[in-house]
Amino acid sequence: MLILLTNDDGIFAPGLAALERVLPRLGEVRVAAPSTEQSGVGHAITFLTPLTAKEVFDGPRSRGWAVDGSPADAVKLGIGQFLPRRPDLVVSGINGGLNAGINVLYSGTVAAAVEGAFFGITSVAVSLEFDEHADFDRAAEIAVEVIEQLLRRRPVAGSLFNLNIPTRALAGSPELRVVPMSTVRYGEAFERRVDPRGRPYFWATNDPPPPPSPEESDVTSLAAGRVTLTPLDYDLTHRASIAALAAGGWSIAPPGSGRRSGD
Ligand code: MN
Repeated sequence: MLILLTNDDGIFAPGLAALERVLPRLGEVRVAAPSTEQSGVGHAITFLTPLTAKEVFDGPRSRGWAVDGSPADAVKLGIGQFLPRRPDLVVSGINGGLNAGINVLYSGTVAAAVEGAFFGITSVAVSLEFDEHADFDRAAEIAVEVIEQLLRRRPVAGSLFNLNIPTRALAGSPELRVVPMSTVRYGEAFERRVDPRGRPYFWATNDPPPPPSPEESDVTSLAAGRVTLTPLDYDLTHRASIAALAAGGWSIAPPGSGRRSGD
């Protein structure tokens, strides 16, 4: 099995290195990752400027490619240009910081996994709760154990998964919960300051934390110290609305007919 390993924290991040050490248990690992940290860039891609990339070595061994772009760029180039053949699995992480709730939609880590799924390749995003002294090696052990069990279930090619590990789960034998992504809005606070020229500027504080919700979700399970696994889909269509929205007919007037909406 060929595995493309990527992330959004950059090719020299400790979370990627930890997975690079344990993923060879599952298959051959090749890396294509951003050359610098790209956290929070979501599914951005580079197309207005040229994209440079550099092969990265660990002594004599080639690790893979550092791409001077976004996580999605790295996956596109990895699959389309650098890997000797199409990978069987894309793993993105381990991110330094959880990617749960609506953060899933801001996350470069998850976007890299989504990009892998676009190619029809089963992809897993892996994130660990932020800690200055995070034990990425233990998190990588948990991740590889979960990924191995996931693959044993033979997911349809192109399946997409989001795995999150809270700090509390690193000790002992944590429970894994398969849960939906929370859609509760949070992280809306900014601190307003004034610069030396009297102009206001704003700093996102990521407060307040998500309010408690009665429904079990990734956010609530992580708060309870459990490992969470969420199957994701990138089809944003609200299918339940299609029939009602299409009913009743729609019309668009020809050019020059003078009709405006509300006439
Ligand atoms: Mn990150």
